Amino acid sequence: MKTTGDFISDCIRADLQSGRFTRVHTRFPPEPNGWLHIGHCKASFIDFSMAEQFGGKCNLRFDDTNPEKEDYSYVEAIKQDLRWMGYDWEDREYYASDYYEYLYDLAVKIIQKGNAYVDDLSEREISEYRGTAGADKGASITPPGRNSPWRDRSVAENLDLFGRMRAGEFPDGSRTLRAKIDMAHPNLVMRDPVMYRIRRENHYRAGNRWRIYPMYDFQHPLSDAKEGITHSLCSLEYEIHRPLYEWFIREAEVFPSRQIEFARLNMTRTVLSKRWLLRLVQEGHVSGWDDPRMPTIAGLRRRGYTPEAIRSFISQIGIAKNDSTVDIAFLEYCLRQDLNKRALRVMAVLRPLKLIIENWEDGAVEILEAVNNPEDAAAGTRELPFSRELWIEAEDFAETPPPKYYRLYPGNAARLRYGYIITCTGFDRDPHTGRIVAARGVYDPATKGGNAPANMKVRSTIHWVSAAHAVPLEARLYEYLFAVDRPMEAPDGKDFIANLNPHSLEILSGAWGEPSLANAALEQPYQFERLGYFVRDRDGALAFNKTVGLRDTWAKIAGKQPEG
Ligand code: ATP
Ligand code: MG
Repeated sequence: MKTTGDFISDCIRADLQSGRFTRVHTRFPPEPNGWLHIGHCKASFIDFSMAEQFGGKCNLRFDDTNPEKEDYSYVEAIKQDLRWMGYDWEDREYYASDYYEYLYDLAVKIIQKGNAYVDDLSEREISEYRGTAGADKGASITPPGRNSPWRDRSVAENLDLFGRMRAGEFPDGSRTLRAKIDMAHPNLVMRDPVMYRIRRENHYRAGNRWRIYPMYDFQHPLSDAKEGITHSLCSLEYEIHRPLYEWFIREAEVFPSRQIEFARLNMTRTVLSKRWLLRLVQEGHVSGWDDPRMPTIAGLRRRGYTPEAIRSFISQIGIAKNDSTVDIAFLEYCLRQDLNKRALRVMAVLRPLKLIIENWEDGAVEILEAVNNPEDAAAGTRELPFSRELWIEAEDFAETPPPKYYRLYPGNAARLRYGYIITCTGFDRDPHTGRIVAARGVYDPATKGGNAPANMKVRSTIHWVSAAHAVPLEARLYEYLFAVDRPMEAPDGKDFIANLNPHSLEILSGAWGEPSLANAALEQPYQFERLGYFVRDRDGALAFNKTVGLRDTWAKIAGKQPEG
């Protein structure tokens, strides 16, 4: 399987060998209209790692030419997330909005060459005149579009009108500047695309100096050229725009950057578009862009993902040149691989039931030793207090055991992790409610460390915390944000919001953790033994987000390629 980067690095290597370029310079070009998501991890990984692989550079460029939706808060969030991912653009932080004057001059140059004109058609008329692909159902050829009546204006008139557009003489949407290419071109993108539109909007960075704003297709290639970008790597939806990318570079007579496309990342159980993610935030379906259920970098980070796990995922999914959907279970598999190596093992009880050890002296405390990480001897050991009253998971006790139940029930023995073997002697009921409030048992002093005597068969090990020493904590359990694999495929007349999973968050506020958790650092991965991986959240007194469960569902569906 070709991995991410192989396909693009082949192209770049060929360019260096042929002498088309003598160096490699890429850019990552987010629009600051939302927070980065895992799709952007793929794009940025490719941009930064290609530069690194060929000893080149990668710029960070904010592609900020839409005044309506862009904002500084997004610029800051994007930079913070990229830094966390481990990318370094040194001082090469650029903004397309700093190029407005340069772009304007190039537009004038194209007008002067007779290859751009001011059009008085409305934006709706322009698209009508342009036509649509395969207009008749089943038609294999695209009927030609119609020329605008304003297409043959003189250069002088175009220059005059364009200058007055800039000066703010005309209302929004009343005129555009268009490239004069070919209204019969089979590729609709080439049918006299719009270069500038009039918008009297305040831009978060450029202020109100500009009344016209460049379109993406015009701005992007020329911004690449200005920065001397050799390889402009972008997702596949830009493939049909590539002839236009090359047209603007040729007409503007600037540095010949080369556009190469890669497959967009799609993933099951989520949506990967800032537009849709913004709706989740605005409509309050999540607590914010960094809600731990969001596929944003900030959400994944808060959930307990590591940059290494994300990079490992990105580098293992193929980049065959077709869009496809990666199973989210594969992302979780990469995450577990990484967390297994670095997580500190601890014990916490999420749905507690008291266990009273009847033959343990009241008030006596024994300090047991526990291993912090069996995968990493350097992580050392820690002390665990053991005493007469413990918290165990309610489900580790049964009044009447179901078939194949080997944990605690009256008469049965189970091992307490790092501690003793306990034989269950009974339980206490609340006299009013009838609920079971405690299990009871006796320990065997000869079983310290969990070794069962030869005549005893102990088939299960359960986790616990000492009630007198435990710290109260809140556990936040997550399921997928969407209840179906492909959220965008919504039932008739509904949109993806209808596919939200109403049970994606469960908060357990009465949980208990072993004492070492009181000082848990943010972003320190923990494995709560038998329960899953957890990480402390920045909100709440002592709250932990469940990062992912222990059981690997990917192994089951492996054999299935992550892409394809
Ligand atoms: P969105 O639909 O989320 O707004 P976008 O393409 O408009 O995505 P940009 O900020 O313009 O977002 O994207 C910056 C870069 O990230 C572009 O080069 C784009 O091709 C790439 N990119 C965006 N989404 C994905 C994705 N799902 N997979 C791979 N690359 C992506
Ligand atoms: Mg975009």
